Amino acid sequence: MGCIFCKIVAGSLPAKKVREDELMLAFHDIAPKAPTHILVIPKKHVGSLAEVTVSDEALLGRLLGAAAEIAREQGLGRGYRVVISTGAEGGQTVDHLHLHLLGGRQMHWPPG
Ligand code: 5GP
Ligand code: ZN
Repeated sequence: MGCIFCKIVAGSLPAKKVREDELMLAFHDIAPKAPTHILVIPKKHVGSLAEVTVSDEALLGRLLGAAAEIAREQGLGRGYRVVISTGAEGGQTVDHLHLHLLGGRQMHWPPG
C-alpha cells in the first residue's frame, strides 16, 4: 500500500499531529497555504469524497466536527475555510480523503 496518509496513520511516516481519536487523525500540512493549515483524515483508507457511501455518514460527521473543534482550539474565531479537493479536476493530489482546515488570513472567492 503506497498511500502516504495511511503511512502517517500507521506511524511509519512522521507528521505533526494535532488531534486523534479512533476514527480520525489531524496533522499539519507539510506545505502550508495559510498560517494555519491542518489536514483532517479518516484513519481508514477512503480514496476521496466521491467514494463515500451511506455507511460513512457518521465518519464524515466526525471529520467535520473535529475540524470545527480544532478551529476553536487554534483560535480561528475570525473565520476559516474547510476544503475537500475531490478527483483530478478538483485538484486532489493525495488519494486518501482529507479535509483542509485553512485559517489565519483572509480567504478569497472564487478559489483557484
Ligand atoms: P490535495 O492536493 O489532495 O487537496 O491535498 C494534499 C495535501 O497533502 C497538500 O496540501 C500537501 O501539501 C499535503 N501533503 C502531501 N504530502 C504530505 C506529507 O507527507 N505530509 C503532510 N503533513 N502533508 C502532506
Ligand atoms: Zn490511505
